[in-house]
Amino acid sequence: MHDDTNLDADWALETLAIRAGHHRTHEQEHGEPIFPTSSFVYGSAAEAARKFGGEEPGNIYSRFTNPTVRTFEQRLASLEGGERCVATSSGMAAILSTVIALLSAGDEIVASRSLFGSTVSLFDKYFGKLGIVTHYVELSDLTAWEAAITPRTRLLFAETPSNPLAEVVDIAALAEIAHRRGALLAIDNCFLTPALQRPLSLGADLVIHSATKYLDGQGRTVGGAVVGRHQELEEVFGVVRTCGPCLSPFNAWVFTKGLETLSLRMRAHCDNAQMLAEWLQEHPAVTQVHYSGLPGHPQHALAGRQQLGFGAVLGFEVSGGREAAWSVIDATRMLSITGNLGDVKSTITHPATTTHGRLSDAQKEAAGIGEGLIRVSVGLEAFGDIRADLARGLDALT
Ligand SMILES: *Cc1c(COP(=O)(O)O)cnc(C)c1O
Repeated sequence: MHDDTNLDADWALETLAIRAGHHRTHEQEHGEPIFPTSSFVYGSAAEAARKFGGEEPGNIYSRFTNPTVRTFEQRLASLEGGERCVATSSGMAAILSTVIALLSAGDEIVASRSLFGSTVSLFDKYFGKLGIVTHYVELSDLTAWEAAITPRTRLLFAETPSNPLAEVVDIAALAEIAHRRGALLAIDNCFLTPALQRPLSLGADLVIHSATKYLDGQGRTVGGAVVGRHQELEEVFGVVRTCGPCLSPFNAWVFTKGLETLSLRMRAHCDNAQMLAEWLQEHPAVTQVHYSGLPGHPQHALAGRQQLGFGAVLGFEVSGGREAAWSVIDATRMLSITGNLGDVKSTITHPATTTHGRLSDAQKEAAGIGEGLIRVSVGLEAFGDIRADLARGLDALT
C-alpha cells in the first residue's frame, strides 16, 4: 500500500525533516495531528494490565507516551542519525535528565568553559549538591580536556560552536579522547542543528538540544531533546517518565512543523550572518568580529570541515566599552533587544550585562566577554535592513 510516511533510510535530511515520524491515523490526515490527551483508554482490563506491565506496546499516559511527542522525537532522531530521541520540557531539562540518568554521586564531568549560563549553574550548584563535580576547560584545547579527565570522569560535555565567540572544538578528536578514557561525549548542538552539524556521525554519544532555538525557529515555545543510542536513551527516558520534565503535545507539534523548514532556514540564516560578519569586519567602529565563517577566525578551517555552515550567532566588539556597546544596541529600531536566539527575528544583546551578567569579572575575562562585546543572532529579515539598523549606532561611533 502507498505509504508516504514510511521511513526510507536513503532519504536526504530535507526529506526526513518533512516526512519522518508521522504515522497516519485511521482519519487519513495529511498534516501531523495533535493529541491533547493526558491518558489513553483500553478495550479491557486485561489489555490495560498488559500495557502497564510492558508486555504490549501502546500509549499509557502523556508524561511518557504521546503520539505527537513521538512524531517530533522520531523526526529529530532521524535528522541527527540517532537510534532514539527523548523530548523534554526545555533544553535545560534535556541536560538535567541526561546527567541524572547516566551519572551518580562521585562521578565527574569535564565541560567547556564557554557554556550556556544556566548549564554552568546546573552543573555547579545543583549537580554539585548531588556530589557530581564539573571541571571546566578551554573548548578548543584538546590537551586541556585530556588533562582534566580522571578515573571518575563519566561525561565530557561541550557546546560547539560557543556563544558568543564562535569557538569550535574538533568533535571527532574529542570523541576519541572520551572513549579511550571510558567516558561519554555529549554535544549541545543548539547553535547549528542537524542541518549544519551531526555530532553522532563524528563519534559523539549524545546530542542535546534546546528546541526553543532553531528547531522551532520562530521563538514560539520552549522545549528540548536528547538524541543517541538505545542504551543511554532508555535511561534518559526513565528519568523523564519518572521525574516528569516531559514535553507538551502542542509544543512537540510546533517543533515538528519547525523541523520541516530547518534546512532552508539554516542556510538563509548562515547567508545573512556571513554577509553581516564581512560588513562588520570592514566597519571602522568595529575592532573585532567573532565568526567562524571569516578566514581570520582561529578555527575557520576546522569549522569548514566539521560543519555544513558557520551558523548565525556572531559577536563583535567596539572600543569604548559598555557605553559604546549600549549606544549601538539602543540605536537599533528593528533588531529585538533580547537574550533569545535562533529566531527568524534578529536579536541583539550585551552579553557582559545580560546572558553572562552573573559571571565574576575574572570569569568574564577568562570567557572573553568584554564590556565592548555585542552579540547578534542573525535572523531572516532582508540583509540590507539588518545592516542599516546596526549602521546607525556604529556610524555614530566613528
Ligand atoms: C537556550 C540554551 C539552552 C537551554 O535551553 P532552554 O530551552 O532555554 O531550557 C541550552 N544550551 C544552549 C546552547 C542554549 O542556547
